[in-house]
Amino acid sequence: MIRNISVIGSGTMGNGIAHTFAQHGFQVSLIDISENALNQALITIGKNLDRQVSKGTLTPEEKEHTLKNITPYTAFEEGVAMADLVVEAATENTELKLRIFKDLDTFAPESAILASNTSSISITQIAAVTKRGDKVIGMHFMNPVPVMKLVEVIRGYATSDETTQLVMSISAQLQKTPVEVNDYPGFVANRILMPMINEAIYTLYEGVAGVQEIDTVMKLGMAHPMGPLQLADFIGLDVCLAILKVLHDGFGNPKYAPCPLLVNMVTAGRKGVKTGEGFYQYTAGSKDIVVSDKFKKS
Ligand code: NAD
Repeated sequence: MIRNISVIGSGTMGNGIAHTFAQHGFQVSLIDISENALNQALITIGKNLDRQVSKGTLTPEEKEHTLKNITPYTAFEEGVAMADLVVEAATENTELKLRIFKDLDTFAPESAILASNTSSISITQIAAVTKRGDKVIGMHFMNPVPVMKLVEVIRGYATSDETTQLVMSISAQLQKTPVEVNDYPGFVANRILMPMINEAIYTLYEGVAGVQEIDTVMKLGMAHPMGPLQLADFIGLDVCLAILKVLHDGFGNPKYAPCPLLVNMVTAGRKGVKTGEGFYQYTAGSKDIVVSDKFKKS
């Protein structure tokens, strides 16, 4: 029976994953190397729970229970010692994730399932550094985790049916909709989303239309809640570039080659909302657009 969850990394995704498990009655150990990140995560979780209470989707008592279910740790060994399931949501870096999974294989209980929330790194590669490849799986939550319904459940080459079934069933217990996919570059979500974003950037780069025009076509014409360029700013242009490189390297197909404009913007430090400027400009610390005509077609 799965009761104790260790979440590794308390950033954007880790705090949402911890929040969601804790809200559904699981005991959560939230682990980060940065004490500051942990403190910030607990503040964010508190604020997000307050929003749920004010909307009437959670009672004040449920909020308190949720917070009580989360224990922060900076000590890795201690934080994973009781885990039935680990969900790793540390920084997207292959070396780092391989090191974390090696350590997890040593310090987490032998029976524990080890899941990664990676957007693009091969689950098969991550599993290969452990001695329990059958228990390693992808559990790809979407941002913001407490709100978004999808969990992309990624089977590595060695992942067992039993592990897959368990993770599908836990995702359903979180009131999410799990979708099982196989481990190939980009899985399903980013395999389809990133080429669309890249094509939107090429459309801008070639001067076919401006930023707002491209986003408006996709919002009003295709009923997308957000245009692809604004979405890229939200995801982070560096993240988009990294995922496109994974697709390009993984398939060796030139159709995934990142647009030179995207490469230039990332090199210049324009990474979207997180740096205050991407295809749009944002006021400090806010997701509100202030200027959006930088790339207007002349
Ligand atoms: P983030 O930068 O917000 O947070 C990463 C956290 O990991 C930081 O707090 C950092 O201190 C911590 N960390 C780094 N090394 C660590 C270690 N050795 N042990 C413990 N903690 C460590 O990143 P994020 O956006 O939350 O992304 C996390 C993962 O989720 C990545 O694999 C990313 O690809 C994936 N993901 C992100 C999104 C998104 O929209 N941001 C969506 C789906 C999946």
